[in-house]
Amino acid sequence: MRDENCIFCKIANGEIPSSTVYEDDDFRVILDLGPASKGHSLILPKNHYRDICESDKAVSEKLFPLAARIGKAMKAGLGANGFNVVQNNGTCAGQTVFHLHVHVIPRYEGGPAMVAWEPGKTDPEELSQTAKKLKGAME
Ligand code: AMP
Ligand code: ZN
Repeated sequence: MRDENCIFCKIANGEIPSSTVYEDDDFRVILDLGPASKGHSLILPKNHYRDICESDKAVSEKLFPLAARIGKAMKAGLGANGFNVVQNNGTCAGQTVFHLHVHVIPRYEGGPAMVAWEPGKTDPEELSQTAKKLKGAME
């Protein structure tokens, strides 16, 4: 479950050094080299999955609890006031490294705005049609 050309496979499995925050049999958590804020961390599964759709269920189930542990540590250890959990799938969603990873980004009072969007507009008919399409496409 490794991709020889994948940099995150090499980092997750300790072949390339990283600022490691946490490690267990399934994951390595490292500090992002281009942090959005101080302590910005990446949860890397040790196995290679391109994105969350390819991920093993057992791995996916552990991601949120681990993100919560990292987020709590950001509050306790770095004085963060909150944190964002972000996970990009696909180029148009901002994914640049195609090895599944979860960003845990500490947020500090008065810090810059990020992970935000302008609320759009919709109407009940559009909501109903969109929900129907999604419902029909669920596997
Ligand atoms: P994404 O855009 O969701 O694919 O996120 C990729 C993230 O990986 C970016 O935030 C990069 O700053 C970060 N990144 C890329 N290469 C490295 C590396 N060698 N070590 C740590 N972080 C990295
Ligand atoms: Zn990989």
